[in-house]
Amino acid sequence: MNLQELARDEVRALTPYQSARRIGGQGDVWLNANEFPCATPYQLTQQTLNRYPECQPPMLLAAYAAYAGVRAGQLLVSRGADESIELLIRAFCEPGKDAVLYCPPTYGMYGVSAEAFGVTRRTVLSTQNWQLDLPAIEAALAETTPHVKIVYVCHPNNPTGNLLDHDDLRCLLKMAEGRALVVVDEAYIDFRLDMSTASWLEEWPHLVILRTLSKAFALAGLRCGFTLAHPEIIQLLLKVIAPYPIPVPVADIALQALGSDGLQRVKRNIAEVIDNRDWLQQALSTCSCVDRIFSGEGNWLLVRFQNAERVFKMLGEQGIVVRDQSRQPGLEGCLRITIGTREECERVWQVLSVLKEKR
Ligand SMILES: *Cc1c(COP(=O)(O)O)cnc(C)c1O
Repeated sequence: MNLQELARDEVRALTPYQSARRIGGQGDVWLNANEFPCATPYQLTQQTLNRYPECQPPMLLAAYAAYAGVRAGQLLVSRGADESIELLIRAFCEPGKDAVLYCPPTYGMYGVSAEAFGVTRRTVLSTQNWQLDLPAIEAALAETTPHVKIVYVCHPNNPTGNLLDHDDLRCLLKMAEGRALVVVDEAYIDFRLDMSTASWLEEWPHLVILRTLSKAFALAGLRCGFTLAHPEIIQLLLKVIAPYPIPVPVADIALQALGSDGLQRVKRNIAEVIDNRDWLQQALSTCSCVDRIFSGEGNWLLVRFQNAERVFKMLGEQGIVVRDQSRQPGLEGCLRITIGTREECERVWQVLSVLKEKR
């Protein structure tokens, strides 16, 4: 029996998302997944594992609503922001008929989730300074076969690090009105909360915002993310989400992370990341192997090297794992380096400072 032939065509052809964990690698300094470098210890307070959890734990919704400045009815909690990327496709896109649009170089999951469901992927490259190419997006939105139902944009953008221009985002919302959802992936917005679009939700019913506890909250292993949107969109997503998506321990720990001590800790995490990011940016600017450092708003630096392959290898030999971005359009020679502890940043610099390249 040929099990491959039993599988759906799309799944057989699919290359799964090349997550940092899947790619693996060897080392003791993990700077390839934009994780926070240190773990916070937590204790479970709920001893009710014999019971199914609430589908959407009300206390958790209330706590995140307070943090994000929205109403609980405008929130969905899911297994990371990644699950929400997929739920949106399942709820809004007809396989074989509809499309999603996104703007490379950007996060890989928008395309992978669409492909897995047989939904067409439309890409519009971002402009030279990594902003939205609005005329090209407008042209794609005007087409009817396939019909673009969801536009995913990432703010700040992974891996380029830049925020999107607020006027451009408003323009995108205007041109998508009545045609498509605009999903603003704010996975890293906690590092620049002043630039969030969350306060725009009242004005734009087709705006959807993705958030996560994986980055600034230092809880990537918890798998907890949030979708901020109009209550009608939330209700549609609730139709396709698993019956018990949020395990009791996840809700328990997430609630602690969103308490006043937890939020104080997040503030300290962010200050520490920014401090180390500034240090690493300054240190790398003295390295002759570095071609350009792109100043980013998240917990990483995107760096273009004279010889990225060699740098990647040299770092690897010293046990430092970073993320190769050189195959993304416009990012030839670029590596993405997550901001680790100060010691980890120093180890990166030590390796790179001795690498001599001609300018
Ligand atoms: C990390 C990341 C996510 C996924 O976050 P999870 O909540 O861990 O699933 C989504 N979007 C972007 C841009 C990310 O970098």
